This record gives sequence, structure tokens and C-alpha cells, in this order.
Amino acid sequence: MSKDGTLPPMAGPMPTSTDRMRILIADDSIVSRHLLDATLRKWGYDVVIVSDGIEAWNELQSDDSPSMAILDWVMPGLTGPEVCHLVRKRNRERYTYLILLTSKSLKEDLIEGMEAGADDYVTKPFDSHELKVRLRAGTRIIELQSELLTAREALREQATKDFLTRVWNRSSILEILERELARAEREQRPVGVVMADLDKFKQINDCYGHYAGDAVLQEAVRRMQSSIRSYDAIGRYGGEEFLIVLPGCDEACTFGQAERLRRHLSSEPMMVGDVPLKLTASFGATSIMPTGKVLGETLIRVADEALYRAKHEGRDRVTYAAQPVEV
Ligand code: GH3
Ligand code: MG
Ligand code: MG
Repeated sequence: MSKDGTLPPMAGPMPTSTDRMRILIADDSIVSRHLLDATLRKWGYDVVIVSDGIEAWNELQSDDSPSMAILDWVMPGLTGPEVCHLVRKRNRERYTYLILLTSKSLKEDLIEGMEAGADDYVTKPFDSHELKVRLRAGTRIIELQSELLTAREALREQATKDFLTRVWNRSSILEILERELARAEREQRPVGVVMADLDKFKQINDCYGHYAGDAVLQEAVRRMQSSIRSYDAIGRYGGEEFLIVLPGCDEACTFGQAERLRRHLSSEPMMVGDVPLKLTASFGATSIMPTGKVLGETLIRVADEALYRAKHEGRDRVTYAAQPVEV
């Protein structure tokens, strides 16, 4: 799990329009390879060259594989159509545009190639002008798909993250809590829950204005984020209230983590313009070893009550509450 929790993974690296398009050439004929290489470089593409089907498949499996490939039909190891078939079977999110290079021009052969997953074909010996426009068509498809993935990623980010602080929003952190509870029950491990609330935050808004308050909130979150472990998750539960989920944490661990958050938050003054400001927060903590189905809302209620006590006992402290017996 990432520092951000367990929601869906981001898409892989995307070529942007400013990147040079990389094209894989797979051909066992040295003459054909060199000709294609020189032609594609002249047109401004970056080129990766291999001489058989297995190398081509290896190259196309790598994380930063070229977005387009020109595959000879007949090659040692794997044929062009076989490579196409493997690429499509893997069904990766980022698209690979595949062009078969073939001396076959029989209709049935071409249908076979396209059915194997090729997007297009060029007959050998290739006509330079024709190849150029076919590559341009492929580039358009790759760029369109990349834009779509980027837009989808932005939507996902909007739907799951808090706009101001970029941590999980309320519904996402609640989802993460439920998921961690289910996992803890399966794996028989504890889970810690901490509710944090900034102290006297209203005064900051009142004295320095709402924008300054926003900046303080962002800095507070940065500090908390840098003191949690990579598999913990933090989300904005309400205005200046944050929910932190600590997988695998029993009472001592949960208390320790909350103390760490508290100290880290208040250790250095926060600058509001030129004014150094001491910001503190209060923490309500609890943990559970799930023996049956436990509801996240029960843990939140217990952590909230502990937080309420922390406020009443003077703020800038961690209060731990054990789970009630009936949980
Ligand atoms: P306490 O120590 O009891 O928690 O006192 P407090 O002042 O922090 O608590 P209170 O609930 O009275 O006030 C919370 C304030 O947080 C009021 C609200 O305007 C402010 N707030 C909530 N969300 C935001 C935000 O997104 N930006 C800014 N600048 N202020 C916010
Ligand atoms: Mg507060
Ligand atoms: Mg509050």
C-alpha cells in the first residue's frame, strides 16, 4: 500500500506531445532494419531496434516500452502476428500501436495479421510516403489515448482527494478504514485509528485571515504526512480534523504514532507571512484486534470521544481510549 492508502493505482508514465515518439523496429533483415532506422530518425522519431520476435516481445513488456512498433511478419523466435497477439493478451492500460511489415499482400494474410491484434500494416518494400502517413495516424491514436488516461487520472484525483490538502477526502479515508478492518480481520492483525484536530484553529482565521488559515492547514498536513509510515493513510475528515489509519498498530504502536504526529506538528513554529506561530493539535487514538466484523464508525466514535477528552484536558496531547467490550 502506498502512503496514500489503497485506492486504485495511477497509470504508468505517459508520453506527452513534447516527448519524441519512440518506435520499436523488429526485423531480422539487416538491410530492412537500417533503412527503417535511417528513415524514422530522419522524421524525428526515436528508434529502438531488435532483430527477432522474442527480443521485440521483451522490449514491449518493459515499463517504458515504445508506444509504437513496426514488426516484421517473419522473424526468428516469434512472428510479427504472434508478438501482436501477446501484446493484446496482456491488455495493458497504456496502448501500443502495432504495425506489421510484410511482403505478404494476400488479403487472407492481412486479415490474419489484423486479427492477431495489429492496428495497421505496411507492405515491403515500403513506400516512404505511405509509411509516413501511417505513422502519423498511429501517433494520433497514441496521443489521444494518452490524453484520455491523463483526463481520467485527473478525475480520479478530484473524486478521491481533498482539494486543499491533497490527502484522501472523507469518503476515501472511510473506504480505506473499512478495507483495512476487513484485512485485519482476515490476517488477525490490529488496526490503529487516530483522529486529529488542530487546536484553536479558528483564532488563526480570525487573526490572519482565511487564506493564511488555508496555508497553515496545508503545512500541518505536510508535517503529518511526513511523519506517518508508508503504509498508513491520512484523510481530511472535516474542516481541520483528520483521520489517520494505522494498519498493524496495537495500543502501544498507535499511541506512539499519534505522539510522533503531535511532536512533529508542533516542533517548529509555522510561518504565517513573517509571523512565527506555534500550532498544536489534539489527538484521540484507539486500536482494535478485530475478532469479528467491526465497523469503522465504531472506531471513529471511540477515537472522537478520546479526542474530546484531549481537548478538555488542555489540548496538545494524545488521549488513548480502549474499545468498549461490546465491539
Ligand atoms: P478547538 O481547539 O476546540 O478545536 O478549537 P478550534 O478553533 O480549532 O475549533 P472550531 O471547531 O471552533 O473551529 C474550527 C475552525 O476551522 C472554524 C473554521 O472556520 C475553520 N476551518 C475549517 N475548514 C477550514 C478551511 O478549509 N480553511 C480555513 N482557513 N479554515 C477552516
Ligand atoms: Mg480545532
Ligand atoms: Mg474541529
